[in-house]
Amino acid sequence: MDNLDHILAGIAAEMRGMENRGKVADYIQPLAAVSPHKFGMAVVTAGGSVHLAGDAEEAFSIQSISKVFALTLAIGAVGDQLWRRVGREPSGSAFNSIVQLESEHGIPRNPFINAGAIVVTDVLLGHHQPREAIGQMLRFVRELAGDDTITVDEAVARAEQDTGFRNKALANYMRAFGNIHGDVEQVLGTYFHFCALAMSCRQLALAGRYLMDGGRTTREKGGHRVITDRRARRINALMMSCGHYDNSGDFAYRIGLPGKSGVGGGILAVAPGIASIAVWSPGLNASGNSQLGQLALERLVQHTGWSVFEPRGGAGG
Ligand code: GLN
Repeated sequence: MDNLDHILAGIAAEMRGMENRGKVADYIQPLAAVSPHKFGMAVVTAGGSVHLAGDAEEAFSIQSISKVFALTLAIGAVGDQLWRRVGREPSGSAFNSIVQLESEHGIPRNPFINAGAIVVTDVLLGHHQPREAIGQMLRFVRELAGDDTITVDEAVARAEQDTGFRNKALANYMRAFGNIHGDVEQVLGTYFHFCALAMSCRQLALAGRYLMDGGRTTREKGGHRVITDRRARRINALMMSCGHYDNSGDFAYRIGLPGKSGVGGGILAVAPGIASIAVWSPGLNASGNSQLGQLALERLVQHTGWSVFEPRGGAGG
C-alpha cells in the first residue's frame, strides 16, 4: 500500500510543524528528559505490511499501554472471574483518581485506570513471583512483536517506585477492602516494571496485531492464537470505552477506534480486521493523553475511513 506510506509521510510532516504539542510528563526525570519534538507512527496491516513514519523505530516508555497486555494475560489466567474484582465501565475521572474507590468498595471501574491495572497485576501475582511475572510479561510482548530486543527500562521502573505515592495509596486502599491479595510492595514493583516497558512504534504496532486479527498474531503460517476472538473483541470494546481515561468519549468521537494511551506519549489503536497502529508524541493533553498522537490518528482515519463507525466499504471523510 504505497498510498499508506504517502498518508503517513503527510501526517508526520504536518505534525512536525505543530506548535501546540502538549506538555511532556514530568513526574519522573526519565520522562521529563524526552524531547517534545519526537513524533513516530507505525501501521501494520492485516496483510502483514509495515508502514513507518518519523521516529517510529525509537523506543519510548509505553507506560499505561502495558495495561492492555497485562489484562490479556490476566484474562488468560483466570478468565471471567477477573470481573469480580474490576469493573468494565468508563471512570469519567483521571487515570490515578482515588475518589470512586470509596463508594465502590475498592472495586476499580475498569482495568485501564491505575487502580484497575494494579488489581490485574495482583491477579497475575496469584500465579507467579514478581520476577516471574515481569519475565512472563517481557516474553509475552517479545513474542507478540516477534522481537527479542524489547526490554524494561530499569531507570524508569526505579523512578516510578521512588515517586509512586499515589499508586501506593490506591493499592493500600484496595488492600483495606480486600481487593489486593498479595504484598502491596511486590504488586506495585511489578506494576511499575510493566509501565517501564520500552518499545518503538514499530514494535508496539506489531504487538497489537492479535487485537486487529481476532486474537491471532498473524494470518500467515506461523501465526498463532493468543486469545479467543471473543476475548479480543471484548478487549477492543474496553479500549474504546475506557482507553483514554476521562478523554475516552472524545477519542471515540474524533477517531472511532479502540485505543490505549500512556503518559510516555504513546497510543496503540486498533482498526479491527484492517490494521494495528502505534503513534508516539511525548506532549500530553490535560487528560494525560498524547496531544499530537490523537491528532495524527484523527488524520489517519479521515484519510482511510478506518473508524469502526464508518459503514464498511464507505470512503473516509
Ligand atoms: N506510570 C504511570 C502511573 O502509574 C502510568 C500512568 C499512565 O500512563 N497514564 O501513574
